[in-house]
Amino acid sequence: MSVHPHIKRVIFTDQQIKDRIIEVGKEITNDYKDSKELVLIGVLKGSFMYMADLVRAINLPNTHVSVDFMSISSYGHGTTSSGVVKINMDLKADIAGKDVIVVEDIIDTGLTLQSLLVNLQARNPASLQVSVLLRKKEALKVEVPCKYIGFDIPIVFIVGYGLDFAEKYRELPYLGELKEEAYKN
Ligand code: 5GP
Ligand code: MG
Ligand code: MG
Repeated sequence: MSVHPHIKRVIFTDQQIKDRIIEVGKEITNDYKDSKELVLIGVLKGSFMYMADLVRAINLPNTHVSVDFMSISSYGHGTTSSGVVKINMDLKADIAGKDVIVVEDIIDTGLTLQSLLVNLQARNPASLQVSVLLRKKEALKVEVPCKYIGFDIPIVFIVGYGLDFAEKYRELPYLGELKEEAYKN
């Protein structure tokens, strides 16, 4: 596998990511067997690859499974959380009375997810859970309920597999740590 020159090290290969998502998909399949309607809410843009792989790993033939997307901003072009969340694009459909899983790329401080969950809870879903691909456990500033976790990772800045730095590196099929010098260019 060729690695982008701005990547210091690959944290998870595309195969490791796929294998882990199969397991998470099985957990969700198991937990939502009795659900009538399950909505997966992808938080754009970072979650788009995770959403695509996760939804294919869920197998619920008796449930109406749908996907919807929201776009929120927290980081702008920096690498530290502002704690301020702005909704740039809202859901297309109403989630009242439906089972909802928020599909997020990464939790760092937890501030983004916390305010998003307050917003979604106010819309009265039947249930509300979170599936996050990556969690920086030591960086959490607030306690956020997060049921389905791909990987716990150390506090480093990650790009690839949908995650960006200043809109770059989303296309990389693996998750990697960005070289410090790449922040400055
Ligand atoms: P939090 O509010 O939890 O601190 O930040 C969550 C958001 O910050 C994520 O959804 C993501 O957009 C961004 N973020 C946090 N850590 C990283 C990281 O290591 N890499 C990238 N690309 N984005 C991150
Ligand atoms: Mg995100
Ligand atoms: Mg970003």
